[in-house]
Amino acid sequence: MNLALWLQRAATAFPDRVAVCLGEQPVWTYGEWADQAARLARGLRESLGLQPGERVALFMRNQPEYLLWLYAAWWAGLAVVPVNARLHPEELHYVLQDTGAALLVLSDDLAPEVQRALGERLPRHLLADGPEALALQQAAPLPLTPREGGDLAWLFYTSGTTGRPKGVMLTHRNLRVMTACYFSDVHAAQAEDSSVYCAPLSHGAGMYHLPFVVAVARHVIPASGGFEPAELVQLSRVHGRVCGFFVPTMVKRLAEHLAGTGEPAEGFLTLVYGGGPMYLADIEKALAVMGPRFAQIYGQGETPMCATALAKPLLADRAHPDWAARAASVGLPQTAVEIRVADEQGEALPPGEIGEVLVRGDSVMAGYWRNPEASAAALRGGWLWTGDMGALDAQGYLTLKDRSKDLVISGGSNIYPREVEEVLLRHPQVAEVACVGVPDAEWGEILVACVVGSAAEAELDALCLAAIARFKRPKRYVFLSELPKNAYGKVLKTTLRHQLKENPA
Ligand code: AMP
Repeated sequence: MNLALWLQRAATAFPDRVAVCLGEQPVWTYGEWADQAARLARGLRESLGLQPGERVALFMRNQPEYLLWLYAAWWAGLAVVPVNARLHPEELHYVLQDTGAALLVLSDDLAPEVQRALGERLPRHLLADGPEALALQQAAPLPLTPREGGDLAWLFYTSGTTGRPKGVMLTHRNLRVMTACYFSDVHAAQAEDSSVYCAPLSHGAGMYHLPFVVAVARHVIPASGGFEPAELVQLSRVHGRVCGFFVPTMVKRLAEHLAGTGEPAEGFLTLVYGGGPMYLADIEKALAVMGPRFAQIYGQGETPMCATALAKPLLADRAHPDWAARAASVGLPQTAVEIRVADEQGEALPPGEIGEVLVRGDSVMAGYWRNPEASAAALRGGWLWTGDMGALDAQGYLTLKDRSKDLVISGGSNIYPREVEEVLLRHPQVAEVACVGVPDAEWGEILVACVVGSAAEAELDALCLAAIARFKRPKRYVFLSELPKNAYGKVLKTTLRHQLKENPA
């Protein structure tokens, strides 16, 4: 089944319903959106000669046309390659080459730099809403191109906190299953909801537009194209029932903003967070300020948005004796997948033991694009090996300890940095913290805490001593004005390790 069928179905049944807004202003109804997508699809196939299965790369900021191009490509049987708009042109070039994209679609504000930097190295390209794109939409609508569940829909380049980006092959079936899990495990989207896109559409936030097409709900692109707390609060007032996907730092900033202004949070319905660890202190504060409006998901590009979920009622149940442990977990397996915490042979470990998190189910990628070695390493014995370390509890809640390579082994003892970070963050003068292992002659590796804040070392040490085993205490503290982060706001621990190696204390 082609994912674009959902748009066709919505447009047939509810053609006049507002579908896409830019800020407060409606841009397209469902009827208009589907009609333009079908016309553009014909332009792609007949004027540009693209064939089903070919790739269209999107290097675009968040703008309404993003949603148009996704559907035009799918309607025509093409696969999309949404590239993070904050990448360097050379990184974009790598993706274009790797995918062999037949067409590149650019936002007008991103095009000049890309054209200047890559010039002749660019494939055929056009502006998302330029004259060429408009001319392509003059053709008659193309009938929807049938697709099998296993056909490629979305080539997702992993964010690259580790190594060289790889193209995760996501099929129409993968994203269909992800969408069904959104309804069953995260939030039962309804027609009155407004899905707001503050995080890049090239990533999970973009995939999470799908349930809102199924629900025939409203899609809202902030006029800023990104995350501005004041703007988001205003949009929640205008549209109401705001849903969306946020990385933990955005949740923190939104809650701080509302705590500062004292404005109500009633325009927000379900804010889903994930993509990186949410610290207990932060979600506690967000719940206190905004009320029970949060759900968490854990996934990765290789099983998009779809491994575990911590649903709203579970996060909201503050009276439950296990609330703190649950809120610090990533929740329960989503409906369509199996989760196993395994030893190195892939054997299931008993509850409480830490091992690698494996995922099996129809959301799991078909493999990495033209990379059989990496595919064979990640997909073994019928399971996706996520590279994340975690433990299940007796009720089936999964708690992530860290990425496996982040594990620090000091004097033969394993230290999971996440555990130490949680403790250090309890100090009121610690804004952010990242713990990494650096080589050490005596211990093999030592744990170094990189702290943004002004807490005294002795106080941090005392906090650790009061909460975790002695050997887990950082052996060194480094105070920084900020932590290095990638375009998605994830802390770049590899960069931190390099910095520490170059500047040993
Ligand atoms: P990406 O493939 O770029 O989306 O990165 C996925 C990785 O982000 C996962 O493998 C985890 O290490 C991390 N991650 C995703 N969701 C969560 C979450 N809810 N809590 C902690 N880490 C997460």
